[in-house]
Amino acid sequence: MIVMKFGGTSVAGAERIRQVAGIVKARLERRPVLVLSAMGDTTDHLLEAADLAYRRGQVSISGIEELHLKTMKDLKLPAAAQKDISPLLTELKTLLTGISLIRELTARTKDYLVSFGERLSVRIAAAYFQSQGIKAQAFDAWKLGFISNSAYGAAELIKESWNLIPERIAPLADQGILPVVTGFIAQDVNGNITTLGRGGSDLSATMIAAACRVEEVQIWKDVDGILTADPRIVKNARPVEVVSYEEAAELAYFGAQVLHPRAMLPCMKTGTPVLVKNSYNPEAPGTRIVLSMEKKSLPVRAITSRKNVTLVDIVSTRMLGQYGFLAEVFSAFARHQLSVDMVATSEVSVSLTLDTVHDLSALKKELSQIASVELRDGKAIVTIVGNVKRSSEILARAFRTCEILGVPVQMVSQGASKVNISFIVNDTEAEEVVNALHIDFFDRLEVPEGGKK
Ligand code: ADP
Ligand code: ASP
Ligand code: MG
Repeated sequence: MIVMKFGGTSVAGAERIRQVAGIVKARLERRPVLVLSAMGDTTDHLLEAADLAYRRGQVSISGIEELHLKTMKDLKLPAAAQKDISPLLTELKTLLTGISLIRELTARTKDYLVSFGERLSVRIAAAYFQSQGIKAQAFDAWKLGFISNSAYGAAELIKESWNLIPERIAPLADQGILPVVTGFIAQDVNGNITTLGRGGSDLSATMIAAACRVEEVQIWKDVDGILTADPRIVKNARPVEVVSYEEAAELAYFGAQVLHPRAMLPCMKTGTPVLVKNSYNPEAPGTRIVLSMEKKSLPVRAITSRKNVTLVDIVSTRMLGQYGFLAEVFSAFARHQLSVDMVATSEVSVSLTLDTVHDLSALKKELSQIASVELRDGKAIVTIVGNVKRSSEILARAFRTCEILGVPVQMVSQGASKVNISFIVNDTEAEEVVNALHIDFFDRLEVPEGGKK
């Protein structure tokens, strides 16, 4: 058995869905389970429609409705398929009307609302596969064991899901059914719909793959795999042949939008191989994500950056040698539910970073009782993911590059994960730095570890 996940761009319209059917058909003997995202930018459009209903009291789903109905028409789906889709569109409209009337939009309602994207796409795709003679069936993920906690917007699957998912999926595979499952969504124990966070379909796919102990999970995107940098920033970014789960997770966490940050966790537990492929270019080999790297590899796997970061410098106003300072600092962050990304410390000072979206005034006030606190926003984290055994070389080259560019490095941290070196520069300098690092690490002749091949 394998799991195949197709993202929004891979199912953006009739032509794309036909292409997906071709890719799936060629792999039917491997008994795939399909996980799909919402079509194109439907999730964004649903959120915009919610905002319009909430703020202005207007109900409009014409764009969403048109995309789905036109796709069905273009795919020449039978009238029966319409019966599956129409009630969902009506329910969506009713929900938006409700929001527009009571002018309330809770996190729970938002999750319920965005769930329509995936629920529509799996039904359309499954109907098309059936019309092509494939024994496909659409499923809302909770029907197949996706039960989560109630942390709307970023729900986590409960541990029972590990047993429920294979229990529900195995009989389908035995009957020769191709399950077409909604990515991104689940239900809590009370039956409320939840979401696993933006881009969460990757996680849905890796969860099925790990829980069912399948041979491989294929994540089909619109790029030739994980690339050495964000292709929108670095023009000649190129696919990486193989990365470890840890490296892929660090890349995702530090801004490479290509995978959901938590998507690697289930497969890390079971060692299930992940393959990132391009649905626009199925012949390309893609990127393999595996437990550990082969010996002969370049020092750096990929470079990424994340903007809109605030740097917090905290210097103790107490005497040197006082214990408990860091504990006090971090418990303040925990009390304010702020998640810290990078940390660098000395005995009396600590610098750390957070996403700029948070309001830090209350935290600053609290910490000011024990330290002098300076907040600096407009920063970016540049992350080099690679072999930290070669950290001296990587750091030397990275600092040299920044020196040549005249960009001061404002903080450095080497993660305990042994695959990540991150540093802070100004937001405005990040793209230039990433491009220059990319030239240095990838556009020059490299000697792999272990010598020349
Ligand atoms: P999908 O929604 O189809 O699953 P996403 O759009 O979430 O896929 O992710 C793919 C996109 O991520 C690519 O089109 C690319 O622009 C962007 N991206 C950013 N960084 C990287 C990277 N290092 N490697 C590959 N893609 C990247
Ligand atoms: N449709 C959801 C999103 O756009 C989930 C996903 O595509 O993975 O975030
Ligand atoms: Mg995505």
